[in-house]
Amino acid sequence: MLIEFTPSGIFCPRAGIYIDPSRSVDKAVITHSHSDHARKGSRAYLTSRGNAGILRHRIGTSASIEGIEFGEEVMINGVSISLYPAGHVPGSAQVRLEFGGEVCVVTGDYKTESDGLSESFELLRCNVLVTESTFALPLFKWDKQEIIRDSVVDWWKRNSAKGLTSFLCAYSLGKSQRLIKLLHRHIPHLYVHPLIERTNDAVRRSGYDVPEARVMNFQTVTKEMKGALSIVPPSFTGSDDAEKLAPYTKAFASGWMAVRGSRRSRNAGAGFPVSDHADWNGLNEVVRQSEAERVFVVHGFADEFSRWLNVNGINATPVRGGTLKPGTETASVRSGG
Ligand SMILES: [Zn+2]
Ligand SMILES: [Zn+2]
Repeated sequence: MLIEFTPSGIFCPRAGIYIDPSRSVDKAVITHSHSDHARKGSRAYLTSRGNAGILRHRIGTSASIEGIEFGEEVMINGVSISLYPAGHVPGSAQVRLEFGGEVCVVTGDYKTESDGLSESFELLRCNVLVTESTFALPLFKWDKQEIIRDSVVDWWKRNSAKGLTSFLCAYSLGKSQRLIKLLHRHIPHLYVHPLIERTNDAVRRSGYDVPEARVMNFQTVTKEMKGALSIVPPSFTGSDDAEKLAPYTKAFASGWMAVRGSRRSRNAGAGFPVSDHADWNGLNEVVRQSEAERVFVVHGFADEFSRWLNVNGINATPVRGGTLKPGTETASVRSGG
């Protein structure tokens, strides 16, 4: 097999590359810039052209980062390495390796529904597939993003009528830009937190069409900022700056909001199930259509999804913490959303 699972990450010995390594390595191939995939300290990085600038913004200016186009081939010791869109966040990639007639695809995080901002997911055929499984349970089935958009707009209108400021909590890379794109024509005064605006800038400079939103200014809180909808990092609520906009209410934009407890509170304005990951149907389609003979499941419900695939005649194995032995679910693998 072309790849090995090691404590430092997915390793291709023949090419000497690690994919999304958890430690400093010589050559790192990075699928996207979320912190559980992109870490500082490696000697050289290879990533998509779209992600190169975003990665630089996240890990620092001195890193040696090479950006390649989707579909472009890099050869190392006879191994063909290329990247294809994963549809997860702008610039996110699946890694395709080919050597001696064997094709191996590592999806990284992916989303099969197009969000109008990230490059759309591209299905790849392969012999060996490494798939993520963040939302690999049948209860995770996403609504179309237009439906979610309408419920966010309704939520904001109800809050605003009650004199409440609306904070929509979202991760700064990917989710926030997607929400701005989705909402900017439907909410008259859309604000973003300054930290999110820094990421917006990096994403815009990489060539993505992130619409302009007003940047929150906590020095001079205007009448317009009160009662408006602001996209903020999850840690913002409860801060002194948030108090300046009281009374307020908050909601999270995350796939985790689809679980029962969260959905119940969604009606009270606690969350919207909008995710950057594939849902149950998306994951199943990708595995089936890849026609892979071997599937390795990482990053999420690895045991559960592997068992389901096995029952359906697919040779799947869960991978946890760099080993093939199934381990226990930890909070850290369920980060993101
Ligand atoms: Zn991610
Ligand atoms: Zn991830």
